[in-house]
Amino acid sequence: MQWEMVVGLEVHAQLRTDTKIFCGCSTRFGAPPNSQVCPVCLGLPGALPVLNRKVVDYAISVGLATECSVAGVSRFARKNYFYPDLPKGYQISQFELPILEHGRIGVYDDEGNPKDIALTRIHMEEDAGKLIHPDASRTSSAAADYSLVDLNRACVPLIEIVSEPDMRSAGEAVQYARKVRDILVYLGACDGNMNEGSMRVDANVSVRPVGRAELGTRTETKNINSFKFLEQAINYERERQIELIEEGGKVIQQTRLFNADLGITRAMRSKEEAHDYRYFPDPDLLPLVIDDAWVERARAELPELPEAKRARFVEQYALSRQDAELLCQSRDMADFFEETAALADDAKAVANWIQGFVLRDMNKEGIESITDAPITSGQIAGMVKLICAGTISSKIAKEVFDEMWGTDKSAEDVVADKGLKQVSDTGEIEAMVDKVLADNPKEVEAYRGGKTKLIGFFVGQVMRASRGKANPDVVNELLTAKLGG
Ligand code: ADP
Ligand code: MG
Ligand code: ZN
Repeated sequence: MQWEMVVGLEVHAQLRTDTKIFCGCSTRFGAPPNSQVCPVCLGLPGALPVLNRKVVDYAISVGLATECSVAGVSRFARKNYFYPDLPKGYQISQFELPILEHGRIGVYDDEGNPKDIALTRIHMEEDAGKLIHPDASRTSSAAADYSLVDLNRACVPLIEIVSEPDMRSAGEAVQYARKVRDILVYLGACDGNMNEGSMRVDANVSVRPVGRAELGTRTETKNINSFKFLEQAINYERERQIELIEEGGKVIQQTRLFNADLGITRAMRSKEEAHDYRYFPDPDLLPLVIDDAWVERARAELPELPEAKRARFVEQYALSRQDAELLCQSRDMADFFEETAALADDAKAVANWIQGFVLRDMNKEGIESITDAPITSGQIAGMVKLICAGTISSKIAKEVFDEMWGTDKSAEDVVADKGLKQVSDTGEIEAMVDKVLADNPKEVEAYRGGKTKLIGFFVGQVMRASRGKANPDVVNELLTAKLGG
């Protein structure tokens, strides 16, 4: 039997506001526990929530960037359940009448054809607090017999982006999640930091026989915090469900957790144990009314989005689609490229250096963002200029690059300090060529006898003699002339 997998994702993203969604407490990450709390986010009786306008601004911008329709009237609802990290006993979310609906995000399927993933809805909600389970270093048991609650995160603004079950492979799902992250980060709506939990993904996965119209029963693997884990979790679920069905079993609808150490998912609770949230409109909050003027203001403030930027890079800088794709992966990287290209006026060379060397070293040192890399656009631009002017060869440029990385030396300084200037003086190079020819009479004879491939050997010898500084064009020219003669 041939199986088809179906995936739908729910993405939770923390919005980058200074203050929480319904009170004025700070949202700063890493503060001492319970130092950023007030009667509202502690859920004290009688405290009243007031909506943070900036949250709505961000939500609208995300909606516009993903082609959602913005609801003129939306509502906040209470999602009721008991948990120690939820002091009110309910989470304020949106249920009926979410702020955004019916968007789309484009990906490529496994055959490379463009395809749209439909968005069901995007809604705003508050985060819960965080439980801390101390290990019992002071007692003999594995865990302490108490837990601690940190409510700094309670009431921090989130949006939840819910997709239709439109994805058919882990590849599509990862692309989709990356696109969501790109858009959020480009908009400045979320910092995209998945290790700190600023963006987390729930993966709904089911399988069905190829050709069948009805969907299979899904499982939902919660709170996945990296793209690699997302891919692993989805593929694991696919295999697990297929195996289960083929052995005569049945997939049960349940919530699962991904164990990154083992690369497997584990059941957390089944549908029967699921909460009945008893949603109802929150009587403390008025319906949210968004008029056209608000939407148009947000539209006017929208920055250039990844897709538009890629297209512009191809057009304006004559880059390949692939180059543009790579450089536009993050807004920081795209900005860095444009800054450097403006200083160096050879965009293609700049693109090559960023991809070949900057990204290589960033990977090697585990640097995630170009803004944290120990190299500036000025340094790269200076180096590219020296290459274009013929002052250094691209081979020497690699040495210059390594020397600049981690320092604030300019390319000019490195070249001057280390005497790396390219030798283009014909007289000087000619002397080296003559010496190489004199030292290798057998090879000269072989060349003249027809083994013209040996030109590479001679060029190599001269370049070595010049310690890489001879202008390769001049070396080639002189060698060809002399060997031919
Ligand atoms: P819940 O709150 O139960 O998770 P939601 O409506 O918020 O429900 O989200 C359901 C998610 O599961 C959506 O992303 C949807 O596309 C996806 N989904 C629904 N049915 C299936 C299925 N049979 N297989 C895979 N994904 C599914
Ligand atoms: Mg869900
Ligand atoms: Zn507060």
